[in-house]
Amino acid sequence: MIQVQNLTKSFGSSAVLKGIDMRLEQGSVLVVIGPSGSGKSTLLRCLNVLEVSTSGSVAIGNASIDFQPGVKPKLADVLSLRRQTGMVFQAYHLFPHLTALQNVMEGQITALRRTKAQARARARELLEKVGLADKADAYPHQLSGGQQQRIGIARAMSIDPKLLLFDEPTSALDPELVQEVLKVIRELAKEGRTMMIVTHEMKFAREVADRIIMIDEGVIVEEGPPEQIFGSPRQERTKQFLSILL
Ligand code: ATP
Ligand code: MG
Repeated sequence: MIQVQNLTKSFGSSAVLKGIDMRLEQGSVLVVIGPSGSGKSTLLRCLNVLEVSTSGSVAIGNASIDFQPGVKPKLADVLSLRRQTGMVFQAYHLFPHLTALQNVMEGQITALRRTKAQARARARELLEKVGLADKADAYPHQLSGGQQQRIGIARAMSIDPKLLLFDEPTSALDPELVQEVLKVIRELAKEGRTMMIVTHEMKFAREVADRIIMIDEGVIVEEGPPEQIFGSPRQERTKQFLSILL
């Protein structure tokens, strides 16, 4: 279970997250929507402590941190929270000097201290899962964007995280490559992975999400099942946002 309580994040004097509360049950999929600059990426980055939150708490499984303004969280707590999450970025962020297989092995060796043989075996399974077993020895620059992103997903899964975070995983892709990546994410949802996905693909959101949260200016303005958010949104901001998109 994932629980976030009264989470805030400021950059200098600018408050970007203004008290986020959310719960995510194991096996459920939460989609985050909202306008550009509303704090969606910052929220994901605060969950895996790529950004240190200003205040509030994050708990994922057995790992948790209570953030205090001006107090650096303990490194051990940061690492243990981070190990609960796997992040898939918009721009892939694969290691360019490592092959597909090595990209999926790396975190297992550094974060989980698996042996090379163990890491390689798991990496092969994951490449198989994302349909890229035959690209194990390719370098990122030899792969299409869709293939690189599928490697990114395999890498995020390689440390067996409790929570998978996706930050606009298809927005850097040419339209014809979007579906192959969504297909992989859809399969993960079917398997019951716990996921939080920021996306502008509303059709996909509607289909894959158990719940949707709409963020605007650092607050959750509306939360509900997809039928509510897309069918009969209660908040004016949600209506406005969706009317521009759809
Ligand atoms: P988009 O849909 O465009 O990706 P977003 O909802 O993901 O937007 P964020 O990237 O979370 O938005 O940014 C929210 C706000 O925080 C923006 O005003 C942004 O300029 C600001 N911000 C994000 N990161 C930093 C940073 N490292 N330093 C200062 N301000 C930042
Ligand atoms: Mg963003």
